[in-house]
Amino acid sequence: MRIFTVPEAPGSTLNRLDRDISANLAGFLQEHIVAEETDLAIIERDFHDTEIPEAPVFVSEQTRFLLDKVVAQSVHTASPNFVGHMTSALPYFMIPLSKIMIALNQNLVKTETSKAFTPLERQVLGMLHRLIYGQSDDFYDHWLHHSENRLGAFCSGGTVANITALWAARNRTFGPDGEFPGIGRSGVFGAMRHYDCDGAAVLVSERGHYSLAKAADVLGIGRDQMIAVETDAYNRVRPDALIATLKRLKRQRIRPFALVGIAGTTETGNIDPLDSLADIAAEQGIHFHVDAAWGGPTLFSDRYRPRLAGIERADSVTIDAHKQLYVPMGAGMVLFREPSALGSIEHHAQYIIRQGSKDLGSTTLEGSRPGMAMLVQSALKIIGRQGYAMLIDNGIQLARRFADRIAVLDDFELITEPELNILTYRWAPTGLQALLGEADNALRQRINDALNRMTQSIQKTQRERGNAFVSRTRLTPAHYGGQAITVFRVVLANPLTTDQVLRELIEEQRQIAGETLESADFAELKQLLDTEHGKARSGERR
Ligand SMILES: *Cc1c(COP(=O)(O)O)cnc(C)c1O
Repeated sequence: MRIFTVPEAPGSTLNRLDRDISANLAGFLQEHIVAEETDLAIIERDFHDTEIPEAPVFVSEQTRFLLDKVVAQSVHTASPNFVGHMTSALPYFMIPLSKIMIALNQNLVKTETSKAFTPLERQVLGMLHRLIYGQSDDFYDHWLHHSENRLGAFCSGGTVANITALWAARNRTFGPDGEFPGIGRSGVFGAMRHYDCDGAAVLVSERGHYSLAKAADVLGIGRDQMIAVETDAYNRVRPDALIATLKRLKRQRIRPFALVGIAGTTETGNIDPLDSLADIAAEQGIHFHVDAAWGGPTLFSDRYRPRLAGIERADSVTIDAHKQLYVPMGAGMVLFREPSALGSIEHHAQYIIRQGSKDLGSTTLEGSRPGMAMLVQSALKIIGRQGYAMLIDNGIQLARRFADRIAVLDDFELITEPELNILTYRWAPTGLQALLGEADNALRQRINDALNRMTQSIQKTQRERGNAFVSRTRLTPAHYGGQAITVFRVVLANPLTTDQVLRELIEEQRQIAGETLESADFAELKQLLDTEHGKARSGERR
């Protein structure tokens, strides 16, 4: 009874913690999260007990445990020095607003459990739809709260958004036809027989997000049928390779039902030539989906919006709200150009989500869903278009300056230029870079292997020290003849990250590299480097 009625006393541990977070979010995180990394195996010891406690644990005791063992050992994603992933700082107002959302505990599956939250969610979908497609006032007046249609689906993130888009594309391509009830009812076997083909496929560049492969798997077309198309030197899909792939699929009697363009690849932040892709999709009559989970909010910026030209021709677009809309984890959206598109995946049940109701649950993959749209609407209003434009411009310009700086440093090599706010680089002194340029394949491979181990080692050591964090990934840049290289990946979305923070980050990496080079593992690399230095010095003398 008490936990549902009597709140904690004002002086309790939980209450103090609650006040501290509200008063100073950044300070709270800074104070309670331990920067230096503890081995996961050690942390696991605090979570080994699978016995559910027989007798209740005091709230204050559990709060203490959370502070010491969970908060302390979590990752400081809001730190300006944490520039390795797409999870960044939150505006302070998200904390109290989230509390209101959770207190109300609405369920968006149907209006009976969400009331105002349903039109609110539709409004948010309309706002993002307008950002992408920019239809007329009449269009939105007509469709925004339409009972049979909706402009998109709100979900937990980019993965579910991508699955939803491809689900609709699949069901529209292999839809009802004469006696055939459609793939949604008959399943994949029946659809292949009726449409006289040996398989179905989705095309995306080799930089496509792994959520697309999950989609191909759950949609029953098979992961191998998520076809990875070659990219150019800028990590953008090659239209000629795309056309060749489409021809091959035709010969193999495999029917492509969606073409996916990426607006902001997860690893390098590059944008596919969306206009060319739209042309190809239109010509072939296939669904054109744009995965703008990361890059979508670039549309707010008058300056950088042109980089996404062609997105308005997409049949569907994924945008993650928990990335560059600065909303807490667990919010994504897929928008459809045509309000009727989601009809192809509609499901009904008698006790809820009845036909003709305004319930949003009939066209979402998930069932029960929280009122996250309230946080997206608040962010859109409080930050506003101009605010988002500032955030976007700031991130892209910071990335540009950082890339320019790396390019002139003697001991670092820029690997991918930032098109948005993501770039990759590695530690590689100019001497080694020159040697890589002249070396035969075998030597080049040995140097790259050693540099890969070096990148890995620097990244890990830096993370463990806890002052700064970059992530790493593997790329195969054209100028190294297809050899895979390990690179640092930097994502610049935190408005508190400054040029100074990045200078210090590089300085620490340089220092770690110097220390690492002394270990026996890197003897050959050190020797090569010394020889190159010697050559360079004698060159100077001459
Ligand atoms: C992050 C991301 C996804 C997946 O989104 P989640 O929210 O992690 O499910 C899909 N595509 C791209 C391009 C992304 O950056």
